[in-house]
Amino acid sequence: MASSNDRGAAMRQKVDTRLVTAGRDTKAQHGFVNPPVVHGSTVLYPTADDLHAHRGEFQYGRHGTPTTKALQETLMALEGPQCAGVGLAPSGLAAISTALLAVLKAGDHLLVCDNVYRPTRNFCNGLLARYGVETSYFDPLIGTGIEQLLKPNTRAVLVEAPGSQSFEMPDIPAIASVAHAHGALVIDDNTWATPLYHRSLELGVDISIQAATKYIGGHSDIMFGTISANAKAWPLVAEGIRLLGVCAGPDDVFLALRGLRTLSVRLAQHHRSGLEMARWLSARPEVIRVLHPALESDPGHAIWKRDFTGASGLFSIVLQPKPQKAVDALLDTLKLFGMGYSWGGFESLAIPFDCNEYRTATKWAPGGPTLRLHIGLENVEDLKADLEHGFATFNAA
Ligand SMILES: *Cc1c(COP(=O)(O)O)cnc(C)c1O
Repeated sequence: MASSNDRGAAMRQKVDTRLVTAGRDTKAQHGFVNPPVVHGSTVLYPTADDLHAHRGEFQYGRHGTPTTKALQETLMALEGPQCAGVGLAPSGLAAISTALLAVLKAGDHLLVCDNVYRPTRNFCNGLLARYGVETSYFDPLIGTGIEQLLKPNTRAVLVEAPGSQSFEMPDIPAIASVAHAHGALVIDDNTWATPLYHRSLELGVDISIQAATKYIGGHSDIMFGTISANAKAWPLVAEGIRLLGVCAGPDDVFLALRGLRTLSVRLAQHHRSGLEMARWLSARPEVIRVLHPALESDPGHAIWKRDFTGASGLFSIVLQPKPQKAVDALLDTLKLFGMGYSWGGFESLAIPFDCNEYRTATKWAPGGPTLRLHIGLENVEDLKADLEHGFATFNAA
């Protein structure tokens, strides 16, 4: 198997092999398959000379441990050769805020797509505004039209492909080529597809972020975030992480690595079941639209097909116009679909949402009440039966 420092040879393997073999230093792990969970702050130096020289692979718990090293190496193997480094954060939102603080300064302008994760917007409008960074929002379908919005002080463009409620698909290569021509960095929230299905660093993104709380963890049992950067952006990101003191707890680091080992098989099943449920829902009379870029009928399908190799289990549906109490009756009837935030675990979820509560650059008029579904690893026939019961109460309400 690949030794931890043999990155070139490892990169020639297929990605699902790399997910299994990367970051495993069998000798240092005393033969065990998995790394130890190192709970540690102080690292002792054997001599004063070693101390003065900061000699040794690990110097202080916050800067890294054998456990974080195993996870970072595996994430780098997943991202591919463009990845110069991966930072770890205690949540997906912390990964986003850390990346933004690392690259921006007072007086800068930031462009953010209007379908962005809502707490990201709150961070930009709140803390970043207080620190003298101006944020403006753009239509996710803007493409090269972003040229008109770039200012001399635009330092970064943040995209999310697709948006995790409304699923519009931005053209990342088009946005990146214009942003780079103006000297701006491109940041992508790649939580939906993960680097397994969307090679964002290869498509021109400089910093690729994941809420590892979702598919990397995969079991709804951790909060975690990752920041992958190319050679241009990594020095800034690494400095930001160091200055801010961002680090993640060892048990969560271990669980993130454990989740990563099985990401490929889990995501393949989420893709299959998600698409099957999306097609089934498209044919239901209660559903007027399914927002899922892997469906041929979706407006983002051509971009999805060009830039993605798979889809996850998260998509939305627009229901026939009915009062909220009919939607609530549907939700209250569901047994397999739980109601709750987050997604990416093994379980199916359903939540209502309304993008009008926060959008500023685009109009959101779906034509009916909207639900976001996460298709978990349950059997799809059971999930269909659960939704059929829900639709019966929706129709009766
Ligand atoms: C959940 C999520 C986040 C934030 O992740 P947390 O770990 O909950 O902080 C960021 N972006 C997207 C797209 C998400 O779905």
